[in-house]
Amino acid sequence: MKGFKSFADKVTVDFEPSITGIIGPNGSGKSNISDAIKWVLGEQSAKALRGSKMKDVIFAGSDDRRPKQVAEVTLTLDNKDRELDIDYDQVKIGRKVTKDGKSDYLLNGQRCRLKDIQELLLDTGIGKEAYSIIGQGKVEAVLNEGSADRRRLFEEAAGITKHKQRKEESEEKLADTQQKLQRIEDIISEIK
Ligand code: ATP
Repeated sequence: MKGFKSFADKVTVDFEPSITGIIGPNGSGKSNISDAIKWVLGEQSAKALRGSKMKDVIFAGSDDRRPKQVAEVTLTLDNKDRELDIDYDQVKIGRKVTKDGKSDYLLNGQRCRLKDIQELLLDTGIGKEAYSIIGQGKVEAVLNEGSADRRRLFEEAAGITKHKQRKEESEEKLADTQQKLQRIEDIISEIK
């Protein structure tokens, strides 16, 4: 993280296998670390990151530090087991935003679309909506959710979200093609 929320300077956090605990006084930035992970995974809602505008993630300055112009976060994932469907041992997912509103997503250093990152993470449990981050109140929220929302969580765990999404995309294309076909048939009958 660099320039992200309370982290003006570059900060690296290693998540080794097993458990990593983050401890510190109130207001020291513990939740900002999980916000950084949510953000880099594509969180679009400033409210979910406890801000009001997306630019609020940029370090806003302190008594002895000037505000930063850019916030950036990179999440480096070990992919030796090829859990992610991409042929690299290490996958770096990055996101950057500038004060003037320019925003970029990066995959192994190359600019990409948010959709590329979302597709890569589908069915892995890592996506921003998945269950890899269980925030305060999440367990209660899952228990109180309607059956359709709860089903979505199980579908992600079962690894079928990707196929469902592709099916929906194909159905949209099919409907679009059918409309075009209809239009062509209308034109042909007019010509006749
Ligand atoms: P608690 O234990 O009370 O939940 P915490 O350790 O989780 O606290 P965070 O909520 O992560 O703390 O951090 C809050 C701090 O981050 C506040 O001091 C706030 O001023 C600072 N902060 C948040 N956004 C920014 C920003 N854009 N620029 C500078 N500081 C920020």
